[in-house]
Amino acid sequence: MVGVAGVASCWMRKTLKRRKVIWWLACSWTAGTVEDFLTVMGEGASWPSSSNVYLFRDDRGFIMVDVGCGGRVGRLLEEMRAKGVKPNDVHTVLLTHAHPDHMGGIAEFLKYAKARVIIHELEAPAAMKPEVLEERFDVHLCVKHYGSFFTGHFSLLSYFESVCPMSKVTPDETVREGDVLEFGNYSFRILRTPGHALGHTSLYEEREGFLLSGDLIGATVAWYSPSSGGVIGYLESLRKVERLRVDRIYPSHGPEITDVKEAICRVKNKLLRREKVILQALEEGEKTFKELNQTLIRKPQLLFFPGTVILESHLIKLEGEGKVGRRGDVIFKV
Ligand SMILES: [Zn+2]
Ligand SMILES: [Zn+2]
Repeated sequence: MVGVAGVASCWMRKTLKRRKVIWWLACSWTAGTVEDFLTVMGEGASWPSSSNVYLFRDDRGFIMVDVGCGGRVGRLLEEMRAKGVKPNDVHTVLLTHAHPDHMGGIAEFLKYAKARVIIHELEAPAAMKPEVLEERFDVHLCVKHYGSFFTGHFSLLSYFESVCPMSKVTPDETVREGDVLEFGNYSFRILRTPGHALGHTSLYEEREGFLLSGDLIGATVAWYSPSSGGVIGYLESLRKVERLRVDRIYPSHGPEITDVKEAICRVKNKLLRREKVILQALEEGEKTFKELNQTLIRKPQLLFFPGTVILESHLIKLEGEGKVGRRGDVIFKV
């Protein structure tokens, strides 16, 4: 925690320093000005794009936040080399969560760098054993409703393999809510922000007033599943961030966000709008799960996933609030 004086001097420091951020979006490089050593790399906003990769310099080298998809590490190393960063300069990799677009490249990256890997304790099981993601994504619910689409079998990891391969890693360290990681001038507070992933982590740099939001806030709104925290967890996570003094966000997908308030509202409104759509549809009469899913999710290819788990998340919330009820597969307004 820093007091008012700390915040004031931080602002002064910010205006005095010429800082540099480079972000790589849709394969093109753009240079802007932010931090004196912050490097940002990413491909785009939509799955299966790799997440942005952020590099922070301290007196020992670099801290890397996420590594992106498997199979794209060569490209990452190339871009790092172009900026004068050698893989072995990276002494720590912080993973925001154990999804393939964020950590799929970790096993390959560690062949080039002797970095210690840090992840939230609740994400560690999936990082060590990616099969756990089947549960975290609630694939069983998708198969329950749409199993016949895939002749009764759907393998999440095989699917990842074809678009953004996952890998596994045993973390050297795990973190939890409230932990603070100090690196040179940077001090990252660990915020657990579930909804999209059970141990999803956002990193808050309080002195500088920025947040590495992971997938919580970004160019697109992330999916959420009951086992990853659901819509209840997602809304709580947004409220947690709302209470902080944050003047810019570095998301895992998309460019830097400077209108923080608007960005949080945009995500929150999208979640609440979905709830409204569900209640309005039920106003007309009871619906089956699939009918309701079709009302909520317009693109047919998204009904199986993430439609199923998004709808299930909302139904759990609305049932808890006594607004909807279920009779087998039929959902009705209370
Ligand atoms: Zn994710
Ligand atoms: Zn992501």
